[in-house]
Amino acid sequence: YNLLQKKILADGTIKSGDVLKVDSFLNHQIDVPFISKLGKEFYELFKDRPISKILTIEASGIGIACLTAVHFRVPVLFAKKSAGSNMDKDVYSTEIRSFTHNKVNHVVVSKKYLNAGDHVLIIDDFLANGCAVEGLIDLVHQAGAEVEGVGIAIEKGFQGGGDALRKKGYDVKSLAIIEKMDAASGTIVFR
Ligand code: 5GP
Repeated sequence: YNLLQKKILADGTIKSGDVLKVDSFLNHQIDVPFISKLGKEFYELFKDRPISKILTIEASGIGIACLTAVHFRVPVLFAKKSAGSNMDKDVYSTEIRSFTHNKVNHVVVSKKYLNAGDHVLIIDDFLANGCAVEGLIDLVHQAGAEVEGVGIAIEKGFQGGGDALRKKGYDVKSLAIIEKMDAASGTIVFR
């Protein structure tokens, strides 16, 4: 088992509806020295790419994106879940269905901070059905920028979002891929 897999086995709890809770180190309390190590791993995985910006989505992607960005020495841009004014002309916007909250978020980034010519690394804490990452890719393309790669801490492989993105040609790298998990027995199997 790698670092993150060990941490998931030690501290993760499985909730109903295929939700893994990792509130002790990633999604509520943040174990900064530990998440810093994950940031370094993302750097090692993508350092050969000409990354000019890291893009994530609020709130839980921000910490891990920042701890990755210190190595790349580039800014972090986080997409905001907004109330939803389609009138705003200064933003790129997209709709993202939230897996954990089962609602659709209108998500925006300012046109000021995402530009044609940007080479973007997308970072997020979890990848399930892939809606969040697909929405972020949509924002990058609206700006005429390029997606260099997608770095995910925990991918739930059995939900298929990661493989669908790989099939489309995106370089998706996850630090831990869960192949199956069972709430009743508490077992987690990694790919
Ligand atoms: P997707 O859009 O790929 O279906 O889901 C990814 C998003 O939903 C992530 O941004 C993450 O915040 C949230 N998410 C999905 N599955 C889980 C999970 O099992 N546990 C936690 N904590 N968040 C999840």
